[in-house]
Amino acid sequence: MQDLPYHKGERLKLVKQIQEKGIKDPAVLEAIAKVPRHLFFGNSIASHAYEDKAFPIASGQTISQPYTVAYQTELLDVKPGMKVLEIGTGSGYQAAVLMEMGANVYTIERIKQLFNEAKHRFAELGYRPKYQGYGDGYKGLPLYAPFDRIIVTAAAPYIPDALLEQLKPGGKLVIPVGKGKQRMKLIQKDEKGKLHETDHGLFRFVPLLKNKD
Ligand code: SAH
Repeated sequence: MQDLPYHKGERLKLVKQIQEKGIKDPAVLEAIAKVPRHLFFGNSIASHAYEDKAFPIASGQTISQPYTVAYQTELLDVKPGMKVLEIGTGSGYQAAVLMEMGANVYTIERIKQLFNEAKHRFAELGYRPKYQGYGDGYKGLPLYAPFDRIIVTAAAPYIPDALLEQLKPGGKLVIPVGKGKQRMKLIQKDEKGKLHETDHGLFRFVPLLKNKD
């Protein structure tokens, strides 16, 4: 499958929808306008790629709703050149949005099949994460820490200490916390290393599970 002018048109409609839902950051909207979301889907459902909905990918997982991707990305406040850790690569769509924004992306996935599929997809589409790993996101990525930004794209029952430790002073962590429904939390680490938490509403994610598949 290719990325055609038709798809670009569909993306611009999607951008308009998420803008109407309150997303303002031009860098986020531009990234959503660029990433060919239909190429992160299986062929059978690719025609739905530009609806503002979450969809199933392999292994019972989901590709997050574009609005949710945009919302988390806006909260994350990413600038070009930042070191960003993503927990839950899934389809690779969120990682691609971050790469379009000029971030140096490190991403981890606990399901081998999804890790492999995302690896091939990144290569095919020309996306180059700094690091793409098969591993347990609860542990973060100590070898490459610290990070300017950390984004968790699955529902965490609590905020893992490892992620807080691996955040730079001045860094930000965006993480949906809770069972059933989740509260979107933004944790900011100030220059003295003190943590400040703010709440950004209700969302629903698949659970962050321990260990590898
Ligand atoms: N960012 C993804 C969203 C995927 S849904 C996208 O843009 O498509 C959440 C993903 O988190 C799933 O793929 C799931 O397998 C993964 N996940 C769950 N627990 C994990 C863990 N402990 N470490 C890493 N990934 C995890």
